[in-house]
Amino acid sequence: MANETNSPSMTNGFHLVVDALKLNGLDTIYGVAGIPVTDLARLAQAKGIRYIGFQHEQSAGNAAAIAGYLTQKPGICLTVSAPGFLNAMVALANATTNGFPMIQISGSSDRAIVDLQQGDYEELDQMNAAKPYARAAYRVNRPEDIGIGLARAIRAAVSGRPGGVYLDLPASVLGATLDAETGARSLVRVVDPTPRQLPAPESVRRALEVLAKAERPLIILGKGAAYAQADADIRAFVEETGIPFLPMSMAKGLLPDDHPQSTAAARSYALAQADVVMLIGARLNWLLGHGKSPQWSPTAQFVQLDIAPTEMDSNRAIAAPVVGDIASSVSALRAMLTPGQIRPRSAWRDELAQRKQHNIERMATHLAANPDPMDFYSALGAIKGVLADQPEVYLVNEGANTLDIARNVIDMRMPRKRLDSGTWGVMGIGMGYAIGAAVASGKPVVAIEGDSAFGFNGMEIETICRYHLPIVTVVFNNGGIYRGDDVNRSGGADPGPTVLMKQARYEMLIEAFGGVGYCAVDPHGLAKALTDALASGKPALLNCAIDPTAGTESGHIGNLNPQSSVAQKN
Ligand code: ADP
Ligand code: MG
Repeated sequence: MANETNSPSMTNGFHLVVDALKLNGLDTIYGVAGIPVTDLARLAQAKGIRYIGFQHEQSAGNAAAIAGYLTQKPGICLTVSAPGFLNAMVALANATTNGFPMIQISGSSDRAIVDLQQGDYEELDQMNAAKPYARAAYRVNRPEDIGIGLARAIRAAVSGRPGGVYLDLPASVLGATLDAETGARSLVRVVDPTPRQLPAPESVRRALEVLAKAERPLIILGKGAAYAQADADIRAFVEETGIPFLPMSMAKGLLPDDHPQSTAAARSYALAQADVVMLIGARLNWLLGHGKSPQWSPTAQFVQLDIAPTEMDSNRAIAAPVVGDIASSVSALRAMLTPGQIRPRSAWRDELAQRKQHNIERMATHLAANPDPMDFYSALGAIKGVLADQPEVYLVNEGANTLDIARNVIDMRMPRKRLDSGTWGVMGIGMGYAIGAAVASGKPVVAIEGDSAFGFNGMEIETICRYHLPIVTVVFNNGGIYRGDDVNRSGGADPGPTVLMKQARYEMLIEAFGGVGYCAVDPHGLAKALTDALASGKPALLNCAIDPTAGTESGHIGNLNPQSSVAQKN
């Protein structure tokens, strides 16, 4: 290996990076090898770090980010210079937007040439390119700074609101030598990387006072609450107060979806009618209508638990901000709560229960219908049945209709099992998240993918097969983005803009790499294929035929899609 140092008393940048990662318990790298980091990947593997090599850096970044979300340790993504670096930038920005801790470590070209723009191989001022998309971006210019550089990157990724961090390692620093003793002394083991942040007692008291006056209170659980891993305390607080709760999509399962206080099936009614809303690790962004009318009552008061003080009043006035980490904040609330202090009106609970029942019955009719070809409901109903008995399976989900409808149909019973498009509504995360979840947990994963969403990173099927990961990819093949029946409005021969190949044999893709392909054309066949695939523990892909006319343009967010004067066919 090119990284071998000539003398035992010397070390070099390659070794220092690997030693620094190991010293901090960072035991997995998700990356794509190439100049100048090929030997870094080799050396890491040789020294006991797990290296997972991808087809595309975007998936490596997504895998690192979701591993960070699941473990509270920054996921490490390794990229080559310039183009490879940029390929991972969508994943880094997505991690920052969602609050997932990850560190993208990238090799880079010769600084002197880059800065004078003299045209180096893969020339790019990477650190400055990364800055707008990262919580922090650092460059290490001397081998003796590698330890401090990684320590700063770890703290930036996991303290406060987590996010994506960029760490730039020029090729010259990787190859630079240093005497071994100085090198060893330069490394930093980060002590308490995620320090507790206790809320002020007066903020806790204020929050309880606001909640105590509520007649129709509602708790909204976000993925920040799921991330915090304070599952037992959150559940106890919800049950002790009797407040109905609503999970955001990645918080589904934090309390089981079939919990009697869950009001997910009466979402719109609960938002519109609540008089006091408690946000636990959820932002009042577009996913919650910015907290504004008509989705919300204009007179509702808000209590918000968040680690980021600037999140308060970001969209709507917050009557009782509680700034601190969620584990500490919920435990402080419980400690100060007196029995009977918070009492939601029983009429409120009854109204919600009635709405819920009504909507559950409506959903049951959708699920029971058995149209040919399958629509989203009948296919998802089949998957719901199989997963009901296997709550430990991770569910990755992206697409438009495939995402919106699966979120409503498939119940989650364990925390942090649902991984989806999240805050950005990004497509192309599915394969990376599935691989990251399978590698970080060793547990089976089912990825329910719209056919378009799957296409972005579908080549990672090879990665899944190469590492023998227990991932079942279900492609909802309706032959298009949203729907499969778009037309070319010029009358020309090219397909319409949202059309994909309806006859595509997606299952043959995985067969090319030794995995198992299935085709499903009805709910029974789909349930059987999924059951068999999960039981085998092997990589599998199910091509699932969905009616091309079943979807809605833009899924549930058609209101965000401006319309031209060109006639809509659907
Ligand atoms: P969702 O999309 O599920 O509503 P968001 O990503 O909008 O969730 O909100 C998550 C919030 O949780 C962010 O504002 C973030 O600052 C906060 N958060 C993340 N981790 C923690 C934590 N450990 N303690 C407190 N707040 C956290
Ligand atoms: Mg589709």
